[in-house]
Amino acid sequence: MEHIENDKQFGGLTVNSGVSQPPSVNPYLKKRRKAPLPTAGELVEGILKGNMTTLSRSVTLVESLSPSHQAIAQEVIEKCLPYSGNSRRIGITGVPGAGKSTSIDVFGLHVLKQGGKLAVLAIDPSSERTKGSILGDKTRMEKLSVHPDAFIRPSPSAGSLGGVARKTRETIVLCEAAGFNNIFVETVGVGQSETAVHSMVDFFLLIQLAGTGDELQGIKRGIMEMADGIVINKADGDNIARAQLAQAQFRSALHLFPTPASGWTPEVLTYSGYFELGIPEVWDMIDRYFAFVMQNGYFGQRRAQQARYWMYETIDEQLRNHFYHNPEIENMLAEKEMRVLANQQSSFTAAKDVLDRYFQNR
Ligand code: GDP
Repeated sequence: MEHIENDKQFGGLTVNSGVSQPPSVNPYLKKRRKAPLPTAGELVEGILKGNMTTLSRSVTLVESLSPSHQAIAQEVIEKCLPYSGNSRRIGITGVPGAGKSTSIDVFGLHVLKQGGKLAVLAIDPSSERTKGSILGDKTRMEKLSVHPDAFIRPSPSAGSLGGVARKTRETIVLCEAAGFNNIFVETVGVGQSETAVHSMVDFFLLIQLAGTGDELQGIKRGIMEMADGIVINKADGDNIARAQLAQAQFRSALHLFPTPASGWTPEVLTYSGYFELGIPEVWDMIDRYFAFVMQNGYFGQRRAQQARYWMYETIDEQLRNHFYHNPEIENMLAEKEMRVLANQQSSFTAAKDVLDRYFQNR
């Protein structure tokens, strides 16, 4: 008897045997297999042909934290290195609202008119892609984002600045191997990220605004010192006079700085990204800079210095990761921290104990 309720002793409703339970998974649905990871060789081949999809996919692997992705990414980078280097790398910084996206859109189109290809990358350690990156977001660069020769990539998602910057630097290598002869690296003009961008570009452009009253106060001296060119945006309408005043102030402020190692005296120009005024002049300055540093040899020196810098940066980063992500060390650090805070041990002996343990296990 299928259903006990149908027994004579229960004089009530009968229960039909009913239909069998259908399988919960649609049997007609083909099982989706995860596409196997491409090999480094396949990716490199696509990159060298200038295939944008392959380039995007490779950049995703560069940004991935998974060790299997990283292994492929590192091989791809290594294989692309001989084909890299042949581009103008330009860093662009400015505080939020300075007009970076508007300007990159018009600067980008200006550059592309001369032929070639342009990659726009970004470094923004504060942004997480899932929350919507504030930098490199395609919608911010309306014209470039639909241009067939432009590749726009938002900042790698949040992590240590060193980590985010290293990934961007590796992405530059891939873009160059894919034939991109112009690379823009954008960053917000606040904090440490300028130093990271400065250490991977040939020319560093600082976008400034006029009309805030105290133009020079708000700017960190360090950022001005890094700039190879300062451009004052929004020189349009009744803002022109103020922009020119700011230009004069920046010019005289720059006189107080020592001549940079490039031997190039940074220029100060005004322009309007929105109304597209003064764009060729800004680009003419950048062209002159490149001609100048190519001629005096600084271009190669700066790239060599940067390569060395990144080697040590990468070593530092990997050492730190290895140390701080070691479970035994993590536990020990927590315990030592409490002892130090409770004045039971000095900072120095606590640090020594942890380091000794780390090196003992090597
Ligand atoms: P970002 O935050 O540095 O990327 O700045 P945006 O490019 O988003 O620009 C911030 C605001 O300034 C926007 O409302 C732009 O329309 C405006 N803007 C940008 N460039 C100019 C310009 O040349 N002139 C004027 N008047 N406004 C501009």
